[in-house]
Amino acid sequence: MPQLAIIGSGPAGYTAAIYAARANLEPILFTGLQAGGQLTTTTEVENYPGFPEGIQGPELMTRFEQQATRFGTVVKMGCLVHKVLKTATGFTLTWEDAYQGTTESAEFNAVIIATGASARYLGLPGEDEFFKDGPTRKHGLTACATCDGAFYKNVEVAVVGGGDTACEEATFLTRYASKVYLVHRRDELRASKVMANRVLANPKIEMVWNSGLNGYHTDAKYKIDAIELVSTIDGSKRNLAVKGVFMAIGHTPNTKFLAGTGVTLDADGYIDVQHGTQTNITGLFAAGDVRDHHYRQAITAAGMGCMAALEAERYLAVL
Ligand code: FAD
Ligand code: NAP
Repeated sequence: MPQLAIIGSGPAGYTAAIYAARANLEPILFTGLQAGGQLTTTTEVENYPGFPEGIQGPELMTRFEQQATRFGTVVKMGCLVHKVLKTATGFTLTWEDAYQGTTESAEFNAVIIATGASARYLGLPGEDEFFKDGPTRKHGLTACATCDGAFYKNVEVAVVGGGDTACEEATFLTRYASKVYLVHRRDELRASKVMANRVLANPKIEMVWNSGLNGYHTDAKYKIDAIELVSTIDGSKRNLAVKGVFMAIGHTPNTKFLAGTGVTLDADGYIDVQHGTQTNITGLFAAGDVRDHHYRQAITAAGMGCMAALEAERYLAVL
């Protein structure tokens, strides 16, 4: 039976694959539906060591993949794992192949979970309707400026959030939009100084402090044409005319598919690790944003991927 499955193709999954493949474990890596992970939704990555000029997120992830396959990783593109079941000798994984339209399963001795996290939405009434035509997000609500920014040329848009993602999205959107409102619930940005200063100095970005998004107004085609804002200070409401809303209020760990495995999660759904990357289930390891709500960086995810592979290798050696 194959020795090691790696679930996820972000920095954590591919780094685990590079190490595991070089240790001759012939890992099988399931990419999920977002091959390359979160960095494929961004432009310039300026803080990944080894790239002093910066590198585009998608290019960085292509390089991760090339390095993993160079040493023999089998990449199962478009394969989404639905279930992980502990057996007497290892784990049975069941996955759906989005390209073939098939469901398959196989047993592995050890598994590294590196499924990262997904963008969060507010859950306001009618929000689901914006995605009814699939992932094109042309109704005006999205969480990815790199993917959808070009739909909003010469119109006004809003970004919601105050972290690095919100600042990055807002700055990027000024390439297309005539004006970008950055709606934040407090009067201070959470983002790192360099990102925050970039936003505050950009004449095309207007800060909307102490405000929350309260609802959407749409036209006859169910496209956003305004949003309702509520003051977090006095509760007063007002409308703001925008054609697009870019949500940047953080992420939710991708752990739903682990229901029934017995793996311990924390109150927010992140995987609890005992020591290193070992979960409460022997032979099941976790790396990257799926178990880390503190650092959430490509380099830390990659580091944990390396740790998980080394720990899986040691575990398999004495099995
Ligand atoms: P992810 O990158 O989230 O990858 C998770 C992978 O798991 C995906 O491939 C997905 O398809 C797969 N997956 C999920 N569920 C399943 C399943 N059931 N079955 C199979 N596969 C599954 N960090 C930086 O250091 N520098 C930056 O400049 C930077 N910019 C960012 C910009 C944006 C817009 C965002 C959103 C994040 C940014 N980050 C940045 C953070 C960084 O992207 C993450 O910390 C990092 O990608 C986490 O890596 P990961 O491998 O844990 O998971
Ligand atoms: P984040 O740091 O958790 O910030 C989320 C922001 O959304 C916060 O400002 C938060 O407000 C706000 N928010 C959360 N829930 C909300 C709600 N219900 N309503 C309104 N606002 C809400 O998330 P992130 O910006 O996505 O960053 C995640 C990680 O990725 C971070 O570690 C970040 O450093 C990293 N990242 C790095 C880069 C880079 O280095 N270039 C780029 C992007 C992301 P409060 O501030 O009031 O809590």
